[in-house]
Amino acid sequence: MSVPAATFAPVPYDLVIVGGGVNGIGIARDAAGRGLGVLVLEGRDLAAATSSASSKLIHGGLRYLEHSEFRLVRESLKEREVLWTAAPHIVHPLRFVLPVRPGMRPAWVLRTGLFLYDHIGGREHLPPTRTLRRGRAAAFAPLRDSIRTAFEYSDCAVDDARLVVLNAIDAHEHGAAIAVGWRLTGARRAARNWNIDVESSGGERRTVQARGLINAAGPWVTSVLASAGVPRHRALRLVKGSHLVLPRLYTGRHAYTLQAQDGRVIFAVPYGDSYTLLGTTEIPYAADAAQASVSDTEVDYLCRGVGEYLREPIEPKKVVWAYAGVRPLYDDGSVDASTVTRDYVFDIDAPPDAAPILSVFGGKLTTYRRLAEHALAKLLPRMHIETRPWTRGAVLPGGDFPNRDIEAFTARQRVRYDFLPPSTIRRMCRAYGTRIERIIGAARSVADLGDELAPGLFAAELAYLRREEWARCADDVLWRRSKLGLQFDASVVETINRWFAGGV
Ligand SMILES: Cc1cc2nc3c(=O)[nH]c(=O)nc-3n(C[C@H](O)[C@H](O)[C@H](O)COP(=O)(O)OP(=O)(O)OC[C@H]3O[C@@H](n4cnc5c(N)ncnc54)[C@H](O)[C@@H]3O)c2cc1C
Repeated sequence: MSVPAATFAPVPYDLVIVGGGVNGIGIARDAAGRGLGVLVLEGRDLAAATSSASSKLIHGGLRYLEHSEFRLVRESLKEREVLWTAAPHIVHPLRFVLPVRPGMRPAWVLRTGLFLYDHIGGREHLPPTRTLRRGRAAAFAPLRDSIRTAFEYSDCAVDDARLVVLNAIDAHEHGAAIAVGWRLTGARRAARNWNIDVESSGGERRTVQARGLINAAGPWVTSVLASAGVPRHRALRLVKGSHLVLPRLYTGRHAYTLQAQDGRVIFAVPYGDSYTLLGTTEIPYAADAAQASVSDTEVDYLCRGVGEYLREPIEPKKVVWAYAGVRPLYDDGSVDASTVTRDYVFDIDAPPDAAPILSVFGGKLTTYRRLAEHALAKLLPRMHIETRPWTRGAVLPGGDFPNRDIEAFTARQRVRYDFLPPSTIRRMCRAYGTRIERIIGAARSVADLGDELAPGLFAAELAYLRREEWARCADDVLWRRSKLGLQFDASVVETINRWFAGGV
């Protein structure tokens, strides 16, 4: 099912943006807030591809310092606190424990890297690095006895798919049309506009016009260029990364950064209240990104890599969920997939007196907001449009509660909605922030929230997700707008799909 075609305006848009991942939606939000007429085309669902398959970190990327990516690391570090302030319901500071292990990078190298990490990125509120020694720190409890020292530093965790959805809501509230379930099938330059052919997942076809085209199709960026008949000047490198989710491997709210034998790092991060997320691998990839899946070799690599640090071995059979994503990286000619730059570059095709197209190569979740500013700074002058950036300091939908204090906000909602279980309130506060009001509103009992379709999931929430967040089926709800899919079985998928079809 796609959104109705009525979404499309009869007059040319200033910008049509292809791709409802973090980069396309981030650009849409920024452009719409500058007063431009914007249409986003997303062929599947918001965050359907790479933007829901990440390690879910807002981070500088300590490892990229080794590859002298100072610009990228600095920009990413600065964005941590900007994004935490913008969305304190879905971005949470996290302490990372980095064990020192014989045969790996020596302690002085790690300490130097962390000194830079603490100081090059405008850190104001996140606590600095400290050294931990066995005997005094609880973080050693799950680690093997041979590990005696570790460093603890700051980064942030994020709900990646919700970051995309919140940006889409904001873009829409600033006037952008978000066409979910509509893909670009072709584009032609005509005088000063693009004529863009679009098709819905139901087979309906339209042509829309735009003064400028932005191609943020992630792993499909070169296919969109081909569909628009535009030569490409940049090369794309697809690198698959896989993650595993297991029942919680250790207690405590900290994460671990673990050096693997091959020099890469593997993260172990608390996931929800009951799970640990392990990732990632980096494998060159050439097939369709929509088909990427986790191989047994990757499961072994991650379980073994993390198992080298933990007292208890990790058994692959304990994995409750595994997912793979494909990084659409700008190919800088690196031999090794893990050293290809994570920075973003733009490919701009703008012949004189013709409508321009800007394509996005590379990038990280962490830098999406700056990427949007940079993309518009490059493109709009070519369209003779003058605007100013505005998103730094602007709060994302639901993030407008005091002092970024999600715990205090949650405690207030528990009192207000005392008829709901605390775990449901906690989940909803961390998904919707102050927009929880739009779901529960003036309800005084669970009966006011409609049918309970699964434990803690009421019809009122599904209605909100359909009405205000473009959800159209169970997967949209269970795997992107929430991660409730981890808790529910196939019967719930059926129930929710029936609800969307109007049958419940
Ligand atoms: C394993 C892994 C771990 C990562 N971890 C992190 C991390 O912890 N922190 C971080 O900052 N970054 C991380 N990243 C990077 C980050 O996830 C990506 O840079 C980012 O999500 C890319 O977003 P995007 O919008 O460019 O692409 P995507 O999210 O892939 O979006 C592109 C969208 O375009 C749509 N599309 C394609 N063709 C068409 C068409 N013709 N018409 C309409 N729509 C179309 C697709 O359906 C898709 O939804 C990670 C990436 C991977 C793979």
